Amino acid sequence: MKKLIAANWKMNGSLAANEALLGAIASGLPAELTCEVAVCIPAPYWAQFRLLAASMPSLASLALGAQDVSSHASGAFTGEVSATMLKDFACRYVIVGHSERRQYHGESDALVAAKAQQALAAGITPVVCVGETLAEREAGKTTEIVKRQLAAVIHANGHCISEIVVAYEPVWAIGTGKTASPQEAQAVHAVLRAQLTAASAHADRVKIIYGGSMNGSNAASLLAQPDIDGGLIGGASLKATEFLTIVSAASI
Ligand code: PEP
Repeated sequence: MKKLIAANWKMNGSLAANEALLGAIASGLPAELTCEVAVCIPAPYWAQFRLLAASMPSLASLALGAQDVSSHASGAFTGEVSATMLKDFACRYVIVGHSERRQYHGESDALVAAKAQQALAAGITPVVCVGETLAEREAGKTTEIVKRQLAAVIHANGHCISEIVVAYEPVWAIGTGKTASPQEAQAVHAVLRAQLTAASAHADRVKIIYGGSMNGSNAASLLAQPDIDGGLIGGASLKATEFLTIVSAASI
């Protein structure tokens, strides 16, 4: 299976900064990509991405992604963006259940599952984030937490669960510079793989990617693990050379 490297720009960027960053990424990408690369950029810049991709051929090989989606199809939900709106910009991926949304916006497992459902209904792949906090890890609850978070999405989307991507993102590793060791990450990925296998005959198609301070120096050892099928990259995705090093580590 091809690895997936997905950038999560979070709430960063401007017209000028995006053009510089995407230009630098485009000029450093290999002519033939042997992994999938996605950029999950803030919604106001999707149109800019489409315009730039039309003029930079190597950018056209990148998939566009969103960072969130409404759990509703349309209507009186001020500030929300629907899955069909993502589809209008040909978004291929959408991150759902990022820990920053769970933590700062009180998103529950059920809400995350409903968001995944909206994405799937629109033909967009949800990148379902799961992960434990430091306190939960120290209490020995990692498996219980990630299984509970994924179970909600499986429960609501069972029939098409092989169409999702799962991102294991230990909360204590996000933006902190602390990375799960390759063995620690692999152990959780194996748990998630087993859970998906129990739910679907096609679980081997599901990419389980790792996120949490992945960078140019640690990517290769993480990506070498048997159940780590790619990375969700925050901070390092805002630096073209770091991001390109991760892409090349995934390109074997
Ligand atoms: C993320 O926010 O999804 C993430 C993995 O961030 P960072 O790489 O900065 O830890």
